[in-house]
Amino acid sequence: MNAKHTKTITQLGVRYSGSGHSFTHTVGSDRLLVTFPNTVHASMSLISIVTGAIKVATSITGLGSKLWFLPTFLAAFAYYHYDLFDPEGRPINVKEVRPEYDFVVIGGGTAGAVIANRLTEMKGWNVLLLEAGGDEPEIADVPILSIYLHRSQLDWKYRTQPQDSACQAMVDKRCCWTRGKVLGGSSVLNTMLYIRGNRRDYDLWKRLGNPGWGFDDVLPYFKKAEDQRNPYLANDTKNHATGGYFTVQDAPWNTPLGIAFVEAGIEMGYEHRDVNGDKQTGFALFQYNMIRGYRVSSSKAYLRPVRLRKNLHIAMLSHVTKVLINPDTKRAFGVEFIRGGKKQVVRARKEVILSAGAIGTPQLLMLSGVGPAEHLQEKNIPVIHNAPGVGQNLQDHIAIGGIAFEIDYPISVLIDRVFNLNAALRYAVQGDGPLTSSIGLETVGFISTKYANQSDDWPDIEFMMTASTTSSDGGSQSRKAHCITQKFYDEYFATISKKDVFGIFPMMLRPKSRGYVKLRTNDPLDHPLLYHNYLTHPDDVRVMREGIKAAVSVGETTAMKRFGTKFHRKPVPGCQGYELFTDEYWECVARQYTMTIYHMSATAKMGPADDPLAVVDHELNVHGIQGLRVIDASIMPTITSGNINAPVNMIAEKGADMIKETWRPRKNKREKRMLFKESTGVKSADSSKTRKQS
Ligand SMILES: Cc1cc2nc3c(=O)[nH]c(=O)nc-3n(C[C@H](O)[C@H](O)[C@H](O)COP(=O)(O)OP(=O)(O)OC[C@H]3O[C@@H](n4cnc5c(N)ncnc54)[C@H](O)[C@@H]3O)c2cc1C
Repeated sequence: MNAKHTKTITQLGVRYSGSGHSFTHTVGSDRLLVTFPNTVHASMSLISIVTGAIKVATSITGLGSKLWFLPTFLAAFAYYHYDLFDPEGRPINVKEVRPEYDFVVIGGGTAGAVIANRLTEMKGWNVLLLEAGGDEPEIADVPILSIYLHRSQLDWKYRTQPQDSACQAMVDKRCCWTRGKVLGGSSVLNTMLYIRGNRRDYDLWKRLGNPGWGFDDVLPYFKKAEDQRNPYLANDTKNHATGGYFTVQDAPWNTPLGIAFVEAGIEMGYEHRDVNGDKQTGFALFQYNMIRGYRVSSSKAYLRPVRLRKNLHIAMLSHVTKVLINPDTKRAFGVEFIRGGKKQVVRARKEVILSAGAIGTPQLLMLSGVGPAEHLQEKNIPVIHNAPGVGQNLQDHIAIGGIAFEIDYPISVLIDRVFNLNAALRYAVQGDGPLTSSIGLETVGFISTKYANQSDDWPDIEFMMTASTTSSDGGSQSRKAHCITQKFYDEYFATISKKDVFGIFPMMLRPKSRGYVKLRTNDPLDHPLLYHNYLTHPDDVRVMREGIKAAVSVGETTAMKRFGTKFHRKPVPGCQGYELFTDEYWECVARQYTMTIYHMSATAKMGPADDPLAVVDHELNVHGIQGLRVIDASIMPTITSGNINAPVNMIAEKGADMIKETWRPRKNKREKRMLFKESTGVKSADSSKTRKQS
């Protein structure tokens, strides 16, 4: 063993014992002998990878001392999965950006990564992907650690403006809106839940004046992206597919609570079903964007496999400040960005594609002169196109935090219980065990309250059922991620802190309240002003209240009672003045621990030109501007009924095909049908009738 190896082992906090490939690790009373297979030899590159992993653990989260087991864990993980850590496998961060590309994509998140991949399938085209953040760290691979990424360097750390209608339990009454600032965007920090939404969501988009966006039109794109690893689901070829970039798998590990939740749903009269299949109403174990227990971000799925394409340039740590638009021709011709402290300009021969997410995209449109004219003038920004809808129509899913149930058995996901060396090694070696848990999220239930049409399959509440709650880590991280005040935590959670519990987050699926994004200043580095407006529509309050009541009743089922389940009846701080469990009380509760599910969307909505708030048309071109499309969560006219990462991925797959169709030499109808089939595996598409040359 050479000096560098010895040093690395020492840095890991492990004591090397013997020649060959074993070492002992001592933490407190735990002593462990780790033996590496003789056939595998630690190489110099592996050592540097391990060292990198440790640096990441401590620098990204600043939590080195709290997550004491991480270095060993990452070392073992890196050893067994060194192919994943191999710097050769990572996207290449170009040193120099050329003066001109065919396409410039802004934002390498869920959508941007797909666009960059699909456009560079065209050999004659070249693409620059600009991303404000850096590459994703290894720590993000580990599902249970996602909560530690909130408020870290990988997060834009947005806070909403204080408002009386919600988030009253948060520091300064401001919700924390986590968004990924990293290659892979929010898909690097999310909980990987794979939900497509309801067929009626997309049929509504179509009815709102968006041809080509009905469910039958978008299903081929969900399938194009999908690599379904559950053989039972994969057999349902009407709804699922294998071989796509985006891997979907079952949880490698669940607590006994996961199945019990499904049983509770059945007891309540719901069916156990594939909620991404023919019908949505019902209960199921969650499906995740994971592969063998580690996260599949959009960057891992779509950028790593094509990193060697010569026509793809990725420039990380590049903060875009403006889309350059000729005020006379109203054509986007380039992008201005700051990299390494230097302002740079790059030109786009064909198109600029904005994929900066539901906050970044409207901010950039406004900074570039496309937005509500009065607001832009107020901020001294020359108006290129008056687009009143930019930043408006903001939608998000909220749930209520703190709906918790104590149980008598030591089976929940308690952080102190699951963060141990056995779990770490089980994860590292086998890719399963408690560290693959998406912070306890195990089961999904779609239910209809009395405010939804009961005879229809369009539920208005999603239960996110967890084998944990905010207090499962003793308030050390979840509380901070959600920006809950220490006082609220102490008053409400103290008696169940670090105790065995399960939780249910009732999430309202189709909110009627609308928020908005405005510029704070014309400085592109300033965060915009964010107004959530949660629970300002009275119907939302009603649905939320019923959702909470339904969640509480889950604790009364025999399936859950057998764990000795007791609802945590502690009056919610701020609501002590109300009689417990009345409608007024639940409304008050909803306004305290109002939990964003991080599905900000719809701030540059798609719609026909005669819709005053529409920002893009059905081919995602910005109305009134040439050569500029928006492709990300912003374009949703209405939020989908479920977690939105899979829908954003679908939007990007479809958007990429639209770009291809625009710039490919003109085809006749038959050739177009063949191209659609080539792209999606599906025979024909009526959407092709509506395509036009932009
Ligand atoms: C904590 C969390 C948990 C979630 N859990 C789930 C879940 O379990 N399931 C689910 O379906 N959905 C989940 N979501 C939502 C889902 O991940 C997002 O809706 C989705 O990733 C949005 O994709 P996007 O492409 O619109 O934006 P993003 O993925 O956020 O990408 C935008 C990208 O643009 C970059 N960018 C922004 N501004 C600039 C600029 N000026 N210059 C350069 N680059 C810029 C950003 O850094 C980012 O990389 C979660 C989200 C979060 C944050």
